[in-house]
Amino acid sequence: MVFRHETELELLKGALDTLASGFADLPEADTYYSLDGMEDVLQDVARRMQDNFPYHHPRYAGQMLKPPHPVARLAYALSLWLNPNNHALDGGRASSAMELECVEAIARMFGFSESLGHLCGGGTMANLEGLWVGGRVQPRGKVVASAQAHYTHRRISEVLRLEFEAIPVSASGRMDVDALRSVLQKEEVGTVVATLGTTGVGAVDPLAEILELREEHGFRVHVDAAYGGYFHIASEQPEEARRQFAQIANADSVVIDPHKHGLQPYGCGCIVFRDPAVAALYRHDSAYTYYSSAELHLGEISLECSRPGAAAVALWTTQQLLPMQRGGAFATALDRSLLAARNFRNGIETSRNFVSLMEPELDIVVYAVRAEDAGEASQRARDVFQRAAERNLHLALIDLPASMVSHWWPDLVLNRDTVTCLRSCLMKPEHLDQVDEICATLERICDEK
Ligand SMILES: *Cc1c(COP(=O)(O)O)cnc(C)c1O
Repeated sequence: MVFRHETELELLKGALDTLASGFADLPEADTYYSLDGMEDVLQDVARRMQDNFPYHHPRYAGQMLKPPHPVARLAYALSLWLNPNNHALDGGRASSAMELECVEAIARMFGFSESLGHLCGGGTMANLEGLWVGGRVQPRGKVVASAQAHYTHRRISEVLRLEFEAIPVSASGRMDVDALRSVLQKEEVGTVVATLGTTGVGAVDPLAEILELREEHGFRVHVDAAYGGYFHIASEQPEEARRQFAQIANADSVVIDPHKHGLQPYGCGCIVFRDPAVAALYRHDSAYTYYSSAELHLGEISLECSRPGAAAVALWTTQQLLPMQRGGAFATALDRSLLAARNFRNGIETSRNFVSLMEPELDIVVYAVRAEDAGEASQRARDVFQRAAERNLHLALIDLPASMVSHWWPDLVLNRDTVTCLRSCLMKPEHLDQVDEICATLERICDEK
């Protein structure tokens, strides 16, 4: 069975029976909408959804996509029979309590003692909140992030009307601390974004060194760990990455996306602030007009108003089943991804057809296709991408600056500014068992030519 959905639906039915029993003393009331006509439209949509890449399968080794854990999927669905809104306690009492517990658990994972945080739509929204608070606290300075940081930081800075500057990166894709230092000597910087796990190549910025510079220059440090955050509790990451992750609790704010590596359906990002006093910045006037209790409502510490209680229910349930503990089942699955990336990179390294670039710090591997020059290597990467897809092996492409690629591939003729490379995010624990087969498929594709 492709989805194991029949067993899952039995579990959901049991949970829904229990949920319904909590409302058994309500008087009978008819439901206005009938189920008529639903079968046809549902069959239509199921067929329409077949037009997707097989994201749930380990032969999908491309973009940053990971299926939710079954328990997250079921808990999310369960909550939709009530559809709580975590804007206010009136809209979702139980799910708001679960949100506070989930965020508290994430903050504890990073080592924060006191903190303030909430869930939101995703990493973009979470970063917007982090940079918005940064801009309120340090209104005059620029936002800086590495040239490999997510493009969202530049765009959010535009939205917030904060100046933005990109800091150059090393050949490994990490922020160049010397370049940051020279910007700090010339300019007023309000917030430095440290990306712990870049979206492109999975590079880990030197957070420890950035924090040292904060001592002298007094900027805020915002950590974008939307993709990489959970690797904090992994064991197989390189020593240098581990050293940087250990510093997260010293940053002013951190973003993590439970919908990336936290086994959640989309619509689940999280922002955590080290100083709970930033809550004052969210204060607004209309509170008592529609809040019915004096307790803290999540809408008072979040820019978004309506938010899916379902996201909190799903995350809470997942954290109960798979607590975020070093050496626990959740962390072990992350380690499998780290090992898969390392093994895959070793496979590429010994291949005649590919050129390996930086060593993966997390579970993303980027690799080039051997050729005479940058233009031909780019064309070949697109060709392999296409022909792999025809064999049900789904990869991704990334354009890297030619200067970055040539560090790892010195005899490449640079006849263009960027080199299109192949990229694989090995985010599923199942990837570890598939690496040899994926490498073999890639070799066959190249040797056939
Ligand atoms: C994915 C990602 C984002 C954007 O998050 P969304 O959840 O897609 O909105 C920001 N930063 C990093 C490092 C990411 O990987």
